Amino acid sequence: MAFDNLQDAFCGCTARPLLIDEPMSRHTSFKIGGPADLLATPSNEAELCNLLKRAKENNIPVTLVGNGSNLLVRDKGIRGLVIKLGNMLNTIEAGENSITFGSGVSLALASKKAAELGFTGMEFAVGIPGSIGGAVYMNAGAYDGEMSNVVTAVRTVDANGEVKVLSKEEMCFGYRKTVLQGSGLIVTAVTVSMPKGNTADIIAKMADFSQKRTSKQPLELPSAGSMFKRPPGYFAGTLIDQTGLKGYTVGGAQVSTKHAGFVVNIGGATAADVLQLIKDVQDKVKAAHGVELHPEVLIIGEA
Ligand SMILES: Cc1cc2nc3c(=O)[nH]c(=O)nc-3n(C[C@H](O)[C@H](O)[C@H](O)COP(=O)(O)OP(=O)(O)OC[C@H]3O[C@@H](n4cnc5c(N)ncnc54)[C@H](O)[C@@H]3O)c2cc1C
Repeated sequence: MAFDNLQDAFCGCTARPLLIDEPMSRHTSFKIGGPADLLATPSNEAELCNLLKRAKENNIPVTLVGNGSNLLVRDKGIRGLVIKLGNMLNTIEAGENSITFGSGVSLALASKKAAELGFTGMEFAVGIPGSIGGAVYMNAGAYDGEMSNVVTAVRTVDANGEVKVLSKEEMCFGYRKTVLQGSGLIVTAVTVSMPKGNTADIIAKMADFSQKRTSKQPLELPSAGSMFKRPPGYFAGTLIDQTGLKGYTVGGAQVSTKHAGFVVNIGGATAADVLQLIKDVQDKVKAAHGVELHPEVLIIGEA
């Protein structure tokens, strides 16, 4: 880099705090991950664009993080600038037939807001611990609902700070897939539209989904949710369970004893532990059932 101190490239940017050598374990639900060279938390789109512009001018790589709930960050961390949007960009604008959320709004809050306004369709999202920006990027879903069912427009900025609004069709939604993946576009706002429903029914449905999660998922331990995508015709958790891998442990990483689809951090897990565990599970499930498992969790950073 052309700077003695990387942070000099961002001198004058208003996004604060600009953290140096910030452990990513503090910013992921897995509580795993080596240091980011720099981590910034812009609170509005202008600050975000300013950071992107400076990074581009100075050839500094940028990694975007929402709420860090679908990430495994490797142990040597992330070079360049990490921009974290979860809990930032948190505006909510309600219209007659739609709601526009800043991309840092948590899915839990977005789902509750939709319910409060009498909209039905976002109940599925109540227990997913991501930001709405990350949820749109992943086309997150649960209990037969997914983001593609409710999203009508996605506001993005590119590396030059140029704004582009994508329609639902332009998002090319698929199973945990969208056009955003690998595009470099950053979501700054998401508009959702749903029919109106009966508020009591909506709230009851949300309570039911929350109760199902609490009883079935290991929410008491750090994780990144389901480790593997659903292989066509199967459930990853069931295959792993049938292979006898519940409780299988590598270092501080363990196949959850409560739900075999989750890998949990039982204390001090490194990314290397999780990666070894993933490989072991993939190999054993392949040998036992002939099915290949692919991670749903995104793996980033340096090993
Ligand atoms: C206990 C638990 C339960 C879970 N249950 C579910 C579930 O039921 N269904 C499900 O689908 N997922 C589930 N997840 C996974 C995760 O919560 C979702 O994938 C969520 O949508 C990720 O959002 P995030 O903001 O945390 O994104 P992050 O994990 O921070 O990032 C994920 C990806 O999205 C990108 N991204 C994030 N924000 C933006 C943005 N604003 N613009 C562009 N790209 C962005 C990041 O660069 C990264 O590539 C669960 C996770 C946990 C820990």
